[in-house]
Amino acid sequence: MNPFEYTRASSVNAAIQALSGRAKFLAGGTNLIDLMKNGVETPDHLVDINRAPLAAIEPLPDGGLRLGALARNSDTANHPQVRQHYPLLSQAILAGASPQLRNLATNGGNLLQRTRCPYFMDTGFVQCNKRHPASGCGALDGFNRMHAIFGASDKCIAVHPSDMCIALAALDATVRVQGRDGERRIAFADFHRLPGNTPEIDTNLKPGELIVSIDLPPNPYAAHSHYQKVRDRLSYEFALVSVAAALDLDGDSIRSARIALGGVAHKPWRALAAERSLNGRKLTRDSLQSAARQAVEGAKAYKGNAFKIQLAQSTVFRALSVAGGVA
Ligand code: SF4
Repeated sequence: MNPFEYTRASSVNAAIQALSGRAKFLAGGTNLIDLMKNGVETPDHLVDINRAPLAAIEPLPDGGLRLGALARNSDTANHPQVRQHYPLLSQAILAGASPQLRNLATNGGNLLQRTRCPYFMDTGFVQCNKRHPASGCGALDGFNRMHAIFGASDKCIAVHPSDMCIALAALDATVRVQGRDGERRIAFADFHRLPGNTPEIDTNLKPGELIVSIDLPPNPYAAHSHYQKVRDRLSYEFALVSVAAALDLDGDSIRSARIALGGVAHKPWRALAAERSLNGRKLTRDSLQSAARQAVEGAKAYKGNAFKIQLAQSTVFRALSVAGGVA
């Protein structure tokens, strides 16, 4: 691990003012410290924000819910308001990592997790455009079983690793951030980026901005939602494919649907056309199967991950079926 300076900030403003150069904010540290230990991240200064007052989970005036950036993943998943009004989010968080990690990991940090592409995680591999821009992509012609089937580029085919973010994408969350120029809000769909020509940039945060909360709108999908995760082993494993599915039902008719996929792209992937195809349809196996087929239209496989296209289709169908109670 490289030497670094350490500062403890007890307020948001103090944290923002302390950040400069190659400094990084330190919250739970469950990803950042690992990456520092193996030399992937080399900040020269850590600004510890754990004492900043950002851990509250509180109702919003519009009927939504504000998740503090420093609330721990466990506390969020088990919060009564989250369990009652956003069970999809609770399920997704509990599908990720391990209880020990969830006790330490924060909501803001969860959004900023970096890919677990093995070529990125191991500095012994020279080719990784995300770690070293213009060095190449070892995964393109290498081991790419875990990699993207949507939205990749010839510079990077990595996937976003979070479970929590897939539910937040389906729930249309908003990310509140604060920087030296004040506060702004970022729609969740615009928070993470596709790799394009700059895979080293994961999000649309500006330099020095700190996530202060994740805001959830009122949720009409609470009664009919499901998070389905498919992985190589049953715990402490990243998704091959995951799906956050939610239905707003009027009897056996679908008013609207939300479908977000994980493990398939550089960001949480909304299947918008598939969602629209369900609007006003009857809730039947046929309509859900048709939406699942539509959800994988445009998918592109690499040498090792063609199986993911069928897996994604099946997982969308499964998640929608459980959400709608037609399984
Ligand atoms: Fe690096 Fe992305 Fe290629 Fe993985 S997929 S080796 S993270 S450039």
